[in-house]
Amino acid sequence: MWEYAPAPESRDIANLKAAYRPFVNGEFVDGGGEPLKTLNPATEEVLAEVGTANASDVDAAVKAARRAYERTWSALPGSERAKYLFRIARLIQERARELAVLETLDNGKPVKESRDADIPTAAAHFFYHAGWADKLSYAGLGPDPRPLGVAGQVIPWNFPLLMLAWKIAPALATGNTVVLKPAETTPLTALVFAEICQQADLPPGVVNILPGAGDVGAELVRHPGVDKVAFTGSTEVGKQIQRAVAGTPKRLTLELGGKAANVVFDDAPLDQAVDGIVNGIFFNQGHVCCAGSRLLAQESVVDELLAKLRYRVSTLRLGDPLDKNTDIGAINSAEQLGKIRELVESGDNEGAHRWTSPCPVPERGFFFAPTVFSGVQQSMRIAREEIFGPVLSVLTFRTPEEAVAKANNTPYGLSAGVWTEKGSRILWMANRLRAGVVWANTFNRFDPAAPFGGYRESGFGREGGRTGLEAYLDA
Ligand code: NAD
Repeated sequence: MWEYAPAPESRDIANLKAAYRPFVNGEFVDGGGEPLKTLNPATEEVLAEVGTANASDVDAAVKAARRAYERTWSALPGSERAKYLFRIARLIQERARELAVLETLDNGKPVKESRDADIPTAAAHFFYHAGWADKLSYAGLGPDPRPLGVAGQVIPWNFPLLMLAWKIAPALATGNTVVLKPAETTPLTALVFAEICQQADLPPGVVNILPGAGDVGAELVRHPGVDKVAFTGSTEVGKQIQRAVAGTPKRLTLELGGKAANVVFDDAPLDQAVDGIVNGIFFNQGHVCCAGSRLLAQESVVDELLAKLRYRVSTLRLGDPLDKNTDIGAINSAEQLGKIRELVESGDNEGAHRWTSPCPVPERGFFFAPTVFSGVQQSMRIAREEIFGPVLSVLTFRTPEEAVAKANNTPYGLSAGVWTEKGSRILWMANRLRAGVVWANTFNRFDPAAPFGGYRESGFGREGGRTGLEAYLDA
């Protein structure tokens, strides 16, 4: 049996076990793919060498998931499945510190975020879905809701364990089995999760984890033994996956990119709004699909708002993600840093006014200082394209109608925020904003009971809540 060395309690990366490997049929196996090195983005040092899957590992994992589905998992009463989910949730809590440190090392996010948001919310998803497992027949999901079979799930690097929980918890609660591919730059917590499945005595094959690059994801999505594909990632890859499953009976849900508008009216409590704007775009270095990356400020208040915002942003501490005081950690990869720089350069070239926080930026590691562009026009790339970094584009509006028109002027439709004292205006806006989630006087608030998902280029299907279960049921 493969033994997992305790995750580092300190920044001593030598403590990390080098043998992270694919998890198939309840065992860690030597994958047939080329090993990949995962880096600590804050230091650029190699954290671990990870064994990856190849096509025959994908086949073995899907077959293991099928056997587990047919022989054990789908036949278990919901109340029994619930026990496993509760056990997994408790184990995530027990290993929360280790998971938080590992997530921060692998992803670059501040440890206070992995400690207070990623890991507890991942546990919350298992607790929440455990509660559903024995109540499916009573929930208006049809008289005899049946699982679909084997779910092939592919996730991105921005919330590695949390995205895994979003995918695996509802699939297991509804009686499906799973083959999941984590992102190539952040596979480590998914492999600790595999060990948690062992600790929870989950029957072999119910959960299989296959580290690897996009080709492994593509192989999984194409595999004829997969009944349902759930993908979170870029719109570009989402479209490729849509084409790959076209003409097959596979069910598909896609959670893709976004370019959310955070709309601030002049009657809003500005200090509160500033905190919401900062949280909206700088949480997790802006690596958030629903990040409030476009601030739409009412013209009468834009100067005051910008002054407050710049002051507040200049107090954010950027640096070592393992330091509990750090607000902004590292960008996850050199590639992502390059994309952010390229888009910021386009903002300069297209004539927007750039303000950068005066915070010191470490020389080593992938860091990018919080940046605010004002004077942004809708035609500029920084107003249209997802930057996926700590970069805010500020536009203005005069009337609520103009705010709606500008907010909706995007191919995406994932989320939006509205800041105003008027309740009637919140409802008026929420009815007109084309976004899956509209937050009022807050931003980036999540709950496992609240469905999340987008329209148009942000994808389709919902995750979370009762609606999220439907995606895993033949009801
Ligand atoms: P990405 O699309 O490059 O990769 C996502 C995953 O897909 C990775 O595991 C990758 O290995 C895999 N992959 C790549 N090519 C594939 C293929 N052809 N077939 C199958 N799998 C393939 O995205 P990313 O850069 O990891 O993540 C950032 C993107 O994710 C952003 O656009 C962000 O908005 C989006 N995102 C969306 C949500 C949401 O809920 N809507 C949540 C988080 C992130």
